[in-house]
Amino acid sequence: MATRSIRTDGEEILRKVCRPVGEVTDRVRENLADMLETMKLEQGVGIAAPQVGIMRRMFIAMPDLEGEPYYMIDPKIISEEGETVDDEGCLSVPGYVGTVKRPQKIVIEATNLDGERKTYTFEDFGARVMCHENDHLNGILYTDIATNIRTLEEAAEEAEKEAKEAEEAAEEAANETKESESADNAIRTAESRNHSSPEVCQ
Ligand SMILES: [Zn+2]
Repeated sequence: MATRSIRTDGEEILRKVCRPVGEVTDRVRENLADMLETMKLEQGVGIAAPQVGIMRRMFIAMPDLEGEPYYMIDPKIISEEGETVDDEGCLSVPGYVGTVKRPQKIVIEATNLDGERKTYTFEDFGARVMCHENDHLNGILYTDIATNIRTLEEAAEEAEKEAKEAEEAAEEAANETKESESADNAIRTAESRNHSSPEVCQ
């Protein structure tokens, strides 16, 4: 096993349509092992063969970091349903994120490491990762279909600002609750005084 260098946006290989893998040979398995090691080193959740200079239709995805990696050889998306909008990044476009519309649910068929054809259903983040990696096999980068592409610094600043605004809104809501609680208490005190006043008088 060895790590490979990641090809970045601007390199022609990322723009080509990859060829089918066909039979899962030891060589294919070796390439996939290298891809997995590279993906882990680069802290990605997915990696497609052209990203390490291999022009074949295969990728690895690990949408659940606690789970096992999915080896998707000659994948084919069979159906797509619904849509979700979220930010994406890519090892081949370092330092940036962008907002991409993806199907909420997909059914995808692919050959696994043992050469068996399997069908999988993925939703939400899983579906997003699969679609992103599958696009790589057709020479498509997420930046081709994304809106609001910005640097990671800009995205971090934005998230910080949003968190601060949410905190302020929560504080305001808490103050309002406190105010209405103290108003309630004042009414209750006044009521109990009214109730108790005859006793006090007696
Ligand atoms: Zn990517």
